[in-house]
Amino acid sequence: MNITVLDKKGLKLKLLIKGATIPYVNTLRRIIIEEVPTMAIEDVEFFKNDSVLYDEIIAHRLGLIPLTTSLDDYNFRETCTCGGAGCAKCQVKFTLKVKGPKTVYASDLKSTDPQIKPVYPNIPITKLTEGQTLELEATAELGRGKEHMKWSPGLAYYQQVAEITINNNKIKNKEECAAICPKKVLQVKGNELVVDKNKIYDCDLCGACTDKCKEGIKVEPKENEFLFSLESWGQLNTEEIMRRAVKEIDDKFNDFIDSIKKA
Ligand SMILES: [Zn+2]
Repeated sequence: MNITVLDKKGLKLKLLIKGATIPYVNTLRRIIIEEVPTMAIEDVEFFKNDSVLYDEIIAHRLGLIPLTTSLDDYNFRETCTCGGAGCAKCQVKFTLKVKGPKTVYASDLKSTDPQIKPVYPNIPITKLTEGQTLELEATAELGRGKEHMKWSPGLAYYQQVAEITINNNKIKNKEECAAICPKKVLQVKGNELVVDKNKIYDCDLCGACTDKCKEGIKVEPKENEFLFSLESWGQLNTEEIMRRAVKEIDDKFNDFIDSIKKA
């Protein structure tokens, strides 16, 4: 397998993966979405809530706030040394005490661990008017996207790279064929319709060109070449997500091998 980084900006990563198969890249995609753990608020205890939103709605909103995650410093509660009761090694406490009039933001959550805090401080939670109070304690812990999407680290998706074959002898109106492509992948150079090499990865196999110029253009997905995109929600950076995803795949195969040995 050969992997090239095509683009890496902030929380986005785009890779070109050569020599893989659809089952392999799809496994990678699913492992990222469902198995790479992050921190999220799981439990909320309300002391006072005068806001217009019910406790359940506020708890749900708190759960969806992405929290910066340090994977090395926390255990899963179920496998923690505390036996699942909850302790400082598997849980982080947040307190929130706000008096209106004020919009309550994610930044109003005060964490007991400065490493674990809302990624986006400006996420609004609710609004309080004069005299209203919101007071609560929230508990965050590690979890996986397969249990609830709030623990998912981001969005992962892939597409196959296009293989475009052009037979110029069979194309009557080359300008028209080039103009129909919404991604501007095709261009007329001299008197030839050609693929713009810088834009070949923009082709999403939409078929507009083959509909218009059936006789001379063939577009097919390359069997073993993929564009793999990852967009982190911010809890982990893209490199941490990829590393952890590969480790999760390894662990699954090792479990499988152990089970076979025992059988
Ligand atoms: Zn614990």
